[in-house]
Amino acid sequence: MLRIAFPQVEQLRIELSFLDASSISPAPQVHTLYPPARAFFTYRCPHSDCGGEFDMADIVRTAVSDGTHEARGSLLCTGARPGEKGSKRACELRLVYAISAHLSGDCRSRIAVG
Ligand SMILES: [Zn+2]
Repeated sequence: MLRIAFPQVEQLRIELSFLDASSISPAPQVHTLYPPARAFFTYRCPHSDCGGEFDMADIVRTAVSDGTHEARGSLLCTGARPGEKGSKRACELRLVYAISAHLSGDCRSRIAVG
């Protein structure tokens, strides 16, 4: 569970958008996770004929531990899709991600008064 993996995280927002140079880009996705959710950050390539996966676990960990509680970047799908005459071709779908974590205590001011 998210609560166990990241005890201080109250909400995790994972925005995924996709860029495909060779065919129609799949629809963007937004995943909002709360403490009882499964701490599972592997997302399947949205192309149904591709077996590729995007493993976001390390990126989520980096986002949570970073001072900004955010991470942005992109990943390339390493899966293969059926090509012509039974051949396979690299999927190379680009995943563009934006992760933001809301941690407990974020809203409380740390500035001492006086
Ligand atoms: Zn793919």
